[in-house]
Amino acid sequence: FRDSRNEEAFDTYDGAELDELARSFTDLSENLGNQLKVAALERSRLDQTLAASADVIIAIDSVSTVVYVNEAAAKILTIPVDSVLGRPLLSVLVDHEIHELTEIALAGQDPDPRIIWRDDRQYQAVARRIIGDGLWAVVLVMHDVTAMQEAEAARREFVADVSHELRTPIASISAAVETLGTDLGSDDAKHFREVIQSETGKMAQIIEEMLELARLESGIAQPQFRLIDLNYVIDEAVNRISTQANHAGLSLSFEKVDDSLRINADPDLVYRALLNLLHNAVKFTPNAGHILVSTRSEKDQIWLFVRDNGVGLSEEDQVRVFRRFYRADKARRLGGTGLGLALVRHIAEAHMGQVSVESQLGSGSIFGFSLSRNMV
Ligand code: ADP
Repeated sequence: FRDSRNEEAFDTYDGAELDELARSFTDLSENLGNQLKVAALERSRLDQTLAASADVIIAIDSVSTVVYVNEAAAKILTIPVDSVLGRPLLSVLVDHEIHELTEIALAGQDPDPRIIWRDDRQYQAVARRIIGDGLWAVVLVMHDVTAMQEAEAARREFVADVSHELRTPIASISAAVETLGTDLGSDDAKHFREVIQSETGKMAQIIEEMLELARLESGIAQPQFRLIDLNYVIDEAVNRISTQANHAGLSLSFEKVDDSLRINADPDLVYRALLNLLHNAVKFTPNAGHILVSTRSEKDQIWLFVRDNGVGLSEEDQVRVFRRFYRADKARRLGGTGLGLALVRHIAEAHMGQVSVESQLGSGSIFGFSLSRNMV
């Protein structure tokens, strides 16, 4: 028995047409093969990107079973990547905020991002439903926002600090001006004029430091490098601070090791940085203390150090002290905005250098900064 329709169909093709058909099939399968390769490549790229991401990425299916965990998630949430796949999220991770987020997303809503704390760090957690994927129902992403939050907190604190620092001298000035308006003996008048002068000086310093830092940070003020002798700059700074150190009952010396320390640098900025360190040394060293300035020549850089035997800093404060607006002991309120050391750091970085601090609470500190010898 022969199916007449098949025969008919068979009869309509000759050899050449069959060849053509075979070629089309080959092309088609090659094309398909290429598309599969591209898809596999894209999949592998995506896998690698997710795996390499510093953000936590976890995917769950429609019944909250873990179907994907990247390395950051494993590290930050301390879960073993291999043994959690296929297990309920609830049994893998004990964190009710994360569960709440994923449950809301599973229910088809877009939960608001939340800040979640882990080991002193803050993460912004977002959970979103994945539509059209059979396996991934919800993906959770957690991004480290600690630095951003800290910067924001520092900014708020700074505004409060600066307002506070400016308010005190302004109050003294206005009280002094008011008193000067009354009938005063010449000695009293002199005293109030001095008060005005000193308070104005404090305000000027705060404003000057804020502007200087803003100029350096924004790149508006480009350092003016030229060949200078550091010994000369150090002498100038030491001379400038000596009266203040004497008044505070401190001895001050400069240990000159090299007769010449020639380097390409911006002398005004180096002077400024050194003066900041010296000011601090005077401010944080009690009567009868000693301040020593020294240098160290290395192959690629020159270090400048200011050592004191003052109040010193805890290890925790040493880590933070070069940040903007940071003051180790706020209760002491010795004036200042916490900008001085941030300025020193910026000046060192503008010279491709670094900053350093060694200190012990109660015994004193050595603050230093370096300048690269390779500046042109
Ligand atoms: P400030 O204007 O408050 O002095 P700085 O940035 O210069 O700002 O210093 C930040 C903080 O670092 C100070 O408030 C102080 O707590 C600490 N500090 C700086 N220098 C010294 C030092 N030589 N000895 C002890 N603490 C210091």
